[in-house]
Amino acid sequence: MNTFQVATADQQTLSNWQASLSAEFAQLKAKGLALDLTRGKPSSAQLDLSNRLDGILDGDYFFNGTDCRNYGGLDGLTALKQLFAPSLGADSEDMIIGGNSSLTMMYQTILFHYLYGADGPDSAWKNLKAPKFICPVPGYDRHFSICEDFGIEMLCVDLLPDGPDMDAVEALLKHDPEIVGMWNVPRFSNPTGIVYSDECIQRIANLGAIAQAHFRVLWDNAYALHTISDTAATLGSISKAAKQCGNYDHIIEFGSTSKVTFAGAGVAYMACSEKNRQVFLKHLGMSSIGPDKVNQLRHLKFFSDAEGLAAHMQLHSELLQPRFAAVLDQLSEQFSDSDALSWTIPEGGYFISVDTLPGLASQVVALAADCGVKLTPAGATYPYGKDPSDKNIRLAPSFPSVADIQTAMEIFCCCVKLASVEQALAQF
Ligand code: PMP
Repeated sequence: MNTFQVATADQQTLSNWQASLSAEFAQLKAKGLALDLTRGKPSSAQLDLSNRLDGILDGDYFFNGTDCRNYGGLDGLTALKQLFAPSLGADSEDMIIGGNSSLTMMYQTILFHYLYGADGPDSAWKNLKAPKFICPVPGYDRHFSICEDFGIEMLCVDLLPDGPDMDAVEALLKHDPEIVGMWNVPRFSNPTGIVYSDECIQRIANLGAIAQAHFRVLWDNAYALHTISDTAATLGSISKAAKQCGNYDHIIEFGSTSKVTFAGAGVAYMACSEKNRQVFLKHLGMSSIGPDKVNQLRHLKFFSDAEGLAAHMQLHSELLQPRFAAVLDQLSEQFSDSDALSWTIPEGGYFISVDTLPGLASQVVALAADCGVKLTPAGATYPYGKDPSDKNIRLAPSFPSVADIQTAMEIFCCCVKLASVEQALAQF
């Protein structure tokens, strides 16, 4: 079965394919496997790269005269601001270094804008009849869950190969003054892996000219450092672009070491204008006397400097490359001459995004589950879990072994083909 063009295949060819694929499916199912390609977690080998964090302080908890064991320092260690600011393309004095999760900082940002507003009580998002966020799709499910948690309505725009469809974004903003935010994963987006172009970044920086004062661009640069190709596209600086056109108050950037050191025990950070920093710190200070500076100091000692950080990321890249290759090799082997599947070839990040023929993603996920391969639920990459075309599936190859990925992909490909053939046969 070299060429696999279901749209043009005749009924007899489709029936033959169905028979052979059903037999292959039964054989694979009989293996009783339990494989998981769902969440973008680092593998144990990746976590092991950071084991030196344990004990690295060796009893010395002081940094520049500060006892990091004690309370205080709400905005984090200055030296870490300097270390992580370049990964966001931000200025170090705009940074806040926080706890272990950037998602928490994003949630808090939305909470503070929702309850209190950045310009006093009248500017709180909760006063609006229907606050809304622009959501480039496919996107990150946890961003969408935060909006759902606040009852913030989500407006989808397409995520194109160079960033969100900015014509659509601008049209929405011009027409609806109750749009309060926009999600972005600008480098190696979750799940398509695209990198925003300079032109797109400039247009986002300019949005302040048409948006209301309460509008915030949430710039989640979770994969800023996570290349899997030596020639991966770089990302322009949104803060520099926004500062130049006087719109920096509209931008809030985030990042973390969750996929750099320990996913559950890393260091998160954000960068924004002084006004936004003060608003954030004021409300943060009501719930915390200071972050875990001991962990911050451990990270500082662990990386030492920008070169140390870059060298560490190279080790991650070496572990991730064969896993991504295991997915991509199998996809191109089985579908390069086919109309049944398209996919992205990312140069970094944690995901490969595939599109089945319309209407088949849920069925493929169900078939794979029946064969012992867990995939991210179809629809997860869209607000409210609803992919209008039911075609997008996010594959996350970081955690399993290469051998397990190869087996899981064999099953995945069989399921895509079987679902495609059955759909085509149903037309006759
Ligand atoms: N943002 C994106 C786009 C992610 O993919 C993830 C992890 N899956 C996170 C944020 C979570 O970051 P953190 O661990 O810092 O909360």
